[in-house]
Amino acid sequence: MKNKVIVTGGCGYIGSHTVVSLIEEGYEVVVFDDLSNSKEFILNKIEEITGKAPVFEKVNLAKESVCKEIFQKHNDAKAVIHFAAYKAVGESVQKPLMYYKNNLFSLINILNAQVENKIENIIFSSSATVYGEPDLLPITESNEVKQPFSPYGNTKKVAEEILLDLTKSEHNFSAISLRYFNPIGAHSSGLIGELPSGIPNNLLPYITQCAIGILEQLKVFGDDYDTKDGTAIRDYIHVVDLAKAHVAALNRLLKKEQETSYEVFNLGTGKGYTVLEIIREFEKVANMKLNYKIVERREGDVPELYAATKLAEEKLGWKALLGLNEMIRSSWQWEQQLRASVKEGY
Ligand code: UDP
Repeated sequence: MKNKVIVTGGCGYIGSHTVVSLIEEGYEVVVFDDLSNSKEFILNKIEEITGKAPVFEKVNLAKESVCKEIFQKHNDAKAVIHFAAYKAVGESVQKPLMYYKNNLFSLINILNAQVENKIENIIFSSSATVYGEPDLLPITESNEVKQPFSPYGNTKKVAEEILLDLTKSEHNFSAISLRYFNPIGAHSSGLIGELPSGIPNNLLPYITQCAIGILEQLKVFGDDYDTKDGTAIRDYIHVVDLAKAHVAALNRLLKKEQETSYEVFNLGTGKGYTVLEIIREFEKVANMKLNYKIVERREGDVPELYAATKLAEEKLGWKALLGLNEMIRSSWQWEQQLRASVKEGY
């Protein structure tokens, strides 16, 4: 048996795919999740895929005493992969304190518990949102970190700063922040994928929910950007590739291969697609026309974001392998299987 790893938010979208990759690599996984934005049945699906159910603890890590207790119980873990956080950009603008409290209290509680129990490795879910509107493309890790456009984004920026400070003060402590570009797609089994609560904010779940008839019409936010077709460009990355990057980062931490105790990596493909290109690819994959209309730009959106991938390739020995077609095919398969299983009551 390999090392034991704690995955917070392991029932969530990226968390669940990472748990699958970790189990497939022989890690012993313990999931901490409060199920505030995920469902427990995902654990059964993980077992269906891997043949192994992770240990599960339903806990709210923003509560200090709860966090302390659960870490004591699992103090033989070697590392934490921390996904558990609120992530709705718009909601964070409405309820900033809720976002700062949940995302930062939980991080601080986890780090305290890690120090206390000598679990000295953490991988943190960060986001390309910390680059704001970048001056240079593709975005390298040395691009300036800017004031993010939302409290959600700021929780990522502040969390990264907390991690940097902690690795300076605790000499045995190591941290890696992974800055995600736009994760989409689902596991090839169709058993796990993104489960947005309410109306989705992100493009792909919005498209698939329109296509399946839950939503009526996709709004394309702006066609007057300075891009080839006027719509905004993003670097979409398959969630299974993203999951594998976490395993690569974990291996790097546990093998003590880091060059500095705090490292940052972009996780993207290096290739950008416009919103209209995504719509066209979806229409091809699903063999249907999508009902959409062009509307005003969405506040806070930047015209173009795509990652430089060299650092992750060199240091993590990881690169994204799955292309746009597979990303969209698996998103659509997941949406269809999910709706069929919802009808059956999961
Ligand atoms: N987008 C859109 N309509 C939607 C959701 C998103 O046109 O209903 C666009 C959005 O303006 C951006 C891209 O799709 O250019 C990706 O948006 P998403 O919210 O998925 O990710 P973001 O990059 O904003 O984090």
